[in-house]
Amino acid sequence: MLSHASWSSFLRASSRRSLFFTPPSYLAANVATNTSPSLRRSFQTETTPPSYPEFAFAFDIDGVLLRSSDPLPRAHEALSYLQSQRIPFILLTNGGGKHELDRVSELSEKLSVPLDTSMFVQSHTPFADMDEYKGKTVMVAGGDEDRCRIVAEKYGFKNVVTPADILAAYPDIWPFSRQLLPYYKAFTRPLPAPIDPSSPSTSLKIDAVFVYSDPRDWGLDLQIIKDVLLSQQGIMGTLSPKNGDASLPNKGYQQDGQPPLYFSNPDLLWAAKYHLPRLGQGGFREALEGVWAALTGGEKGGVQLQKIVMGKPHQPTYEFAEKRLVAHRKKLLSQFDGSLGHLKRVYMVGDNPESDILGGNSYRSPLGTDWVSVLVQTGVYVDGTVPAHKPRKIVGGVYDAVSWAVQQEHWKS
Ligand SMILES: [Mg+2]
Repeated sequence: MLSHASWSSFLRASSRRSLFFTPPSYLAANVATNTSPSLRRSFQTETTPPSYPEFAFAFDIDGVLLRSSDPLPRAHEALSYLQSQRIPFILLTNGGGKHELDRVSELSEKLSVPLDTSMFVQSHTPFADMDEYKGKTVMVAGGDEDRCRIVAEKYGFKNVVTPADILAAYPDIWPFSRQLLPYYKAFTRPLPAPIDPSSPSTSLKIDAVFVYSDPRDWGLDLQIIKDVLLSQQGIMGTLSPKNGDASLPNKGYQQDGQPPLYFSNPDLLWAAKYHLPRLGQGGFREALEGVWAALTGGEKGGVQLQKIVMGKPHQPTYEFAEKRLVAHRKKLLSQFDGSLGHLKRVYMVGDNPESDILGGNSYRSPLGTDWVSVLVQTGVYVDGTVPAHKPRKIVGGVYDAVSWAVQQEHWKS
């Protein structure tokens, strides 16, 4: 897996693409009108467009298909049309907090279209493949109550601890959430081991920290994650003697076997029911970065917060999504079997220039598929402003995005 630093340099190195389409090669068939009948026949045979779509869609959800939990206008029509045409699509969201099965059935109902988990990638879906941590003790932060713990368990993680479990066992760890204990006690569980710094070998040890979804109790989660990152080998209650050692890389911070820290979603803002965008998981990460810098001296002092950030716009999330999309397309168009050609284009339809558009523009497909960014005006991006990252096309809503793309493809319904 690429480190965050490698992703960032990858994204910086990405060059701009042309803003214009090259017409599909089969349009060249018109040229054959002035050629001899035999040549025309062979030209037409070779260049007849395939009867299956060579393109597909990836839709963001919040601000594209739904606004908070309400369907956006014509979202149903857009997806129904694609399904009637057997044009493949997946849903690619930085949202999360529920298992894929639950989220998909909810979406199916809201949008009145049949969907299944093979067409769905949410922020924490790639965590499901991290088998190396499944037998270890991991901390899962974020989401309503302990739903993200349940998601992690469904992915196969055996020992999942939440910051609230730790608070319930040791309320002194974060006195400012003491008044929330009656709420937390409804869903917290006993810790698998006590916090006992006098006996590190039997004390609670965290082997990986995952932020699955937006933390609800930022203060508690900041405090506990900070404690883990400053500990010795992830053993709760300890403090690494290497912290601040200028002779070590990163001044000794996160150099003592502390667990890796994963974020599933980089979005600073997202479109909710309120009329102005709300802070997302990226806001929580910035808060942690700020606290970390204040504690360690930060980047000015040569100290970084070492973490791995997944979700759009990062390359690994798009790679994961593309694999899902290719597999889904193969299944959907199984009648073409061996004759099914390469997926040439994917239209990435999103409302957030920082995630959907930047991700679509900078993604380099290992399969050579062209990702075309399309920005809608039903979410974070507001008409009349300049998007931070320029899309290939700006349209009103999701139905307009589909209409424009099928027109570009000269798809005959
Ligand atoms: Mg969105």
